[in-house]
Amino acid sequence: MNQIIFATGNEGKMREIRAILGDMEMEISSMKEAGLTLEIEENGTTFEENACIKARAVAAALAVQGKARECVVMSDDSGLEIDYLNGEPGVYSARYLGEETPFSDKSADLLRRLKDVPAEERSARFVCAIAAVFSDGETVVTRGAVDGRIAYELRGDNGFGYDPIFYLPEYDRTAAELTDEEKNRISHRSRALELMKEELKKRML
Ligand code: IMP
Repeated sequence: MNQIIFATGNEGKMREIRAILGDMEMEISSMKEAGLTLEIEENGTTFEENACIKARAVAAALAVQGKARECVVMSDDSGLEIDYLNGEPGVYSARYLGEETPFSDKSADLLRRLKDVPAEERSARFVCAIAAVFSDGETVVTRGAVDGRIAYELRGDNGFGYDPIFYLPEYDRTAAELTDEEKNRISHRSRALELMKEELKKRML
């Protein structure tokens, strides 16, 4: 096990992954760098299920090419859960109101649905599940979350997705008003990645 292949084409995610797992003395490649192009349907009902579906599909494609032996395949799935909306948009975060709809519109729609809802009922969290499929077929899943509240308006230009409506009371700012460094330190993805790092270490003893 000397290579990690991460099932994403997102360069921002790859930067974060390299920053956290970079000292593991393993080669870290994206799917593209590993020469794979694959359309995978995310039809799971939980973040964990979707992360497993993607990682297993990529591991199977690598096995067909005879490349699976020395590597661990990882994948993540993430999204925003709003308690007042019974966990929506959840696993549908990227697809909410359609993939092509700008996040400013998706966010504005969520704000509209929470109109007049008081602060104490606006709790929400970003969740990230990371799945790893090892060469013997074993699958491990970790989960990270960051708690916050849905703001009353869009604020901030940093970040992406739903960051401008995700308010962090301890910072008195939205996620889009944090620096990259501040956000990476507390993010759901970095928490799930840190837990995955511990799982990797256990298997390297
Ligand atoms: P995926 O995990 O790449 O499928 O992304 C799921 C969706 O969740 C993204 O398109 C974003 O809308 C949302 N999301 C996940 N993490 C974040 C975050 O840190 N900030 C803002 N939106 C996020």
